[in-house]
Amino acid sequence: MDLFEYQGKQYFARYGIPVSPGGLAVTPDEAVALAETIGFPVVLKAQVQVGGRGKAGGIKLAANAEQVHAYARAILGMDIRGHIVRRLWVERASDIAREYYASFTLDRGAKAHLAMVSAKGGVEIEQVAIEDPDAIARLHVDPFFGFDEGMARQLVDEAGIDEEAKAGTIEVLGKLYRCFVEGDADLVEVNPLILTTDGRAHALDAKVTLDDNAAFRHPEWEEFAGTAELDERERRAHEVGLQYVGLDGFIGIIANGAGLAMSTCDVVNQVGGRPANFLDIGGGASAEVMANALEVINSDPSVRSIFVNIFGGITRGEEVANGIVTALGRVDIKVPMVIRLDGTNAQQGREILRAVESSTVISAPDMISAARLAVELAGEEK
Ligand code: GDP
Ligand code: MN
Repeated sequence: MDLFEYQGKQYFARYGIPVSPGGLAVTPDEAVALAETIGFPVVLKAQVQVGGRGKAGGIKLAANAEQVHAYARAILGMDIRGHIVRRLWVERASDIAREYYASFTLDRGAKAHLAMVSAKGGVEIEQVAIEDPDAIARLHVDPFFGFDEGMARQLVDEAGIDEEAKAGTIEVLGKLYRCFVEGDADLVEVNPLILTTDGRAHALDAKVTLDDNAAFRHPEWEEFAGTAELDERERRAHEVGLQYVGLDGFIGIIANGAGLAMSTCDVVNQVGGRPANFLDIGGGASAEVMANALEVINSDPSVRSIFVNIFGGITRGEEVANGIVTALGRVDIKVPMVIRLDGTNAQQGREILRAVESSTVISAPDMISAARLAVELAGEEK
C-alpha cells in the first residue's frame, strides 16, 4: 500500500524524523485557515500518488492569505498525470540550502535491504541513475545485522553530502532505517532531504510503501486503507476476489497461475503489444471466476482485445472450456478474444470451445501465435 506524502510524513514523525508542521485541506478556505495557524510563508502541496508534482504545478509557495486561496483553487481538482487532486497539504515553508536524496528499499535479488543516498536530490532519482549513476551511493544492509552509524557515515561520505549536513543526515538515516524495518515498509524515500539555511537536515517529501503482508500487526493502518488511491478496475477485481493488477496497455489478459500470467504479459510485450492488466484466475478456472474475469476486463475502456491463456493441470481442459462457454453466455464481450488452451485434456477442451468460436472468438494452437493474433486484432495503438 502506497501512502500519500502527508501520511508518509506522519509516519516519519513517529520515528523522530524531522518534518514540517502542517495540515490537510480540501477547500481553499480550509487552506487559508490552516496557513493562518501555521504562519506564513507556507507551501501548498497536491496530495497525489505520483512524482513530479512540483514540475506539474502542484506545489506552490504562498506568502499571504490571498496567494494561498488562489493557489489552492488552482491546485484542487488539478489533473496531475491522470491523478485528480482532492487533498492539499499545507505546511510551513522551509528555507532550502541544499537538496539531497535518501531511501531504503528491499532488494529481493540480493535478499537484503538497500540504502541509497545522493547529494543530487530534488530531481527524479531515476533520472540521476541514468545521467550520473556514480552520484548515488548504494549500500546493501543485511537485515539480520541491521544498519549502524558506520554504514550511514560511509554512505554520506561516498555520496558527497556537504560537511555541515553530514551529522544531521546520519541521524536521519538511522531513524529512517528504524521506520523502514519496525514500520514494515517496503520503501521509504525522502526526496528531497534538505539542509535548511540554518543547518538542519529535514524531510521535505515522503514516499512510503507499506508491506501489505504485515497489515495484521498494524491495526493503525486501517486509516490509510480508507484513503487509498485504488485503480477503479483493481477495486472491482478485488471485490470479486481476483488477483488483478491494472497496467497501462491495451491487451486484456486472463491466465491461470501467477507464473503463466506473468509469462503471458511478457509474450504480449515480446510481440509488440502491451498488457492492460495482469490477471491470475487461479487453478480452478470455473465459469463463475471466468465470468468475473471477463466482466472486469470488459469494463476496461482501454482493452482492445482479450487474450485468454489457460494451461490445464489439475483442472482439466474440458472443465475449463465449459467454464469459458458458460461465461461467454453471461458476459457480452465488446472486443475480439483469442483463447489458447493447452495441457491436460486440451483436445477435448478445444472441441468444446468450437461451439462459441466466431470471427471474434478465436482459438489459437500455442501461446506465441495466440499473442500475435491478440495484438493484431487489437489494431494500431491509438
Ligand atoms: P515532487 O515534485 O512531487 O517530488 O514534490 P516535492 O515535495 O519533492 O517538492 C518538489 C520541490 O518543491 C522540492 O524539490 C523543492 O525544491 C520545492 N519545495 C517543496 N517544499 C518547499 C519548501 O518548503 N520551501 C521551498 N523553498 N521549496 C520547496
Ligand atoms: Mn519529491
